[in-house]
Amino acid sequence: MADLDGLAADLEGIAIETHPSLVKQKSRDFFWYSPVLKRQLDHVCGDLVASPKSEEEVARILAACHARDVPVTVRGAGTGNYGQAMPLAGGLVLDLAGMNAVKRAGPGSVVAEPGAILADIDRATKAACGQELRMHPSTYRTASIAGFIAGGSGGVGSVRWGGLRDLGNVARVEVMTMEAEPRKLTLTGEDLHKVSHAYGTNGVITEVEMPLTAAHDWVDVIVGFDALTLAAAFADGVARHDGILTKEVGVVAAPAAHDYFLRHQRYIAHDQSVALIMVAPFAVDALVSLVARSRGAVLYRSDTASESDRRELPPLYELSWNHTTLRALRVDPTITYLQSLYPYPNHLAKVAAIADVFGDEVMTHLEFVRFDGVIACFGLALVRYSSEERLDEIVRIHEEMGCPVFNPHRYTLEEGGMKQSDSAQLAFKREADPKGLLNPGKMIAWEDPAFDFAGRQTYLFPGLSR
Ligand SMILES: Cc1cc2nc3c(=O)[nH]c(=O)nc-3n(C[C@H](O)[C@H](O)[C@H](O)COP(=O)(O)OP(=O)(O)OC[C@H]3O[C@@H](n4cnc5c(N)ncnc54)[C@H](O)[C@@H]3O)c2cc1C
Repeated sequence: MADLDGLAADLEGIAIETHPSLVKQKSRDFFWYSPVLKRQLDHVCGDLVASPKSEEEVARILAACHARDVPVTVRGAGTGNYGQAMPLAGGLVLDLAGMNAVKRAGPGSVVAEPGAILADIDRATKAACGQELRMHPSTYRTASIAGFIAGGSGGVGSVRWGGLRDLGNVARVEVMTMEAEPRKLTLTGEDLHKVSHAYGTNGVITEVEMPLTAAHDWVDVIVGFDALTLAAAFADGVARHDGILTKEVGVVAAPAAHDYFLRHQRYIAHDQSVALIMVAPFAVDALVSLVARSRGAVLYRSDTASESDRRELPPLYELSWNHTTLRALRVDPTITYLQSLYPYPNHLAKVAAIADVFGDEVMTHLEFVRFDGVIACFGLALVRYSSEERLDEIVRIHEEMGCPVFNPHRYTLEEGGMKQSDSAQLAFKREADPKGLLNPGKMIAWEDPAFDFAGRQTYLFPGLSR
């Protein structure tokens, strides 16, 4: 057991929290979305929280924890839904929410501190130069920019710009190492992959530079269809229609749209599947023309909605990505979800085939994204949960049908991703965190290099039984 009193003394002058209920609060993210992670991680808790205000304070904290062998788990806003920010080995939670300044905003790019909230960044860039971030998670109003880079993958905007890890979607990050004398490294280009989506296992991001694009007053449009296949084909067509500028194109099958989008329920019939679209104001008429060519009907559009609807209804992006899951969970706490890929070019056929196999047990939710210049879709299906065994079986059937699953019921990088270790991230961890103190238990390649990814067993971090 580390000498926490000694550590607190080392950190004099830096904001520290040791009150058990406050530490517990800052030791949790949205892991509970998964009944499996809820069972495994509910007891997880750090020992103390440090809230630095500057890079100098981050460096002091890392040096002190390094000297005393105290694990450090970085936290942005704690909205990760794979348990990314859960301190599996206890230790210090490094809460970067207070380092949230937007340092420079101008045409082309923005420079911000790690804890800057995405919506706040956009407010600053719109005011400075009429531009905005290319993409954001549906947790736009709460999540931090470094948490998005280290723990997220893409979201609203990915239909135009692809994933966050695609080259060009992050310009630069400054990373601090976990060593006796922490170093600050600048990563750009290919090197960004060392820390991008690495769950803070191999360095602490202390500054980011993100590319910008033209800002628009995006119009929210919901289009209804009598069949899921019609909604999916329409959404695919919209996403591929280069002249119609969209920021979000998703699909939610009946009856989930009606049953779970409670505040929009009066617009959506029980048996309607819907396409969810954010479109630039100048392209709304073109979108409506596409609807007229399809067998759909515009159910809602924010630009012609009543003043009270515009004020009171949540923005459409908060019906999309994992907010769809959140809305379902609020109505039916037994719902859980999956994240999968329907690969191009047969994505629509696979959507239909998987919907057929599972029927009402797995309700289709699609998010259209651009992959290497072509449109495919992710599935964030809503699953009627019965048991862990059945959940594993549903995952296996998806994979056998050619749809890889990024399993949100696993807390490790590899199992939640491509089921293989990332050699660049592992090599960087050896360099930047030689003692393995950053977010222990999340990178199997570090914890158990002999782990067999081809087998079907789940990795269990020994530190969890602490
Ligand atoms: C309702 C809901 C909707 C969501 N929608 C999306 C979505 O559309 N797209 C998407 O990609 N994700 C989505 N997520 C997941 C999550 O909200 C995002 O990935 C978000 O960007 C995480 O930001 P955060 O500040 O909350 O990070 P945290 O949860 O605090 O951290 C995430 C990971 O990053 C690490 N980290 C945080 N800050 C740093 C740092 N400075 N340096 C190094 N590592 C760091 C943490 O250790 C952790 O491993 C959703 C989650 C919920 C609950």
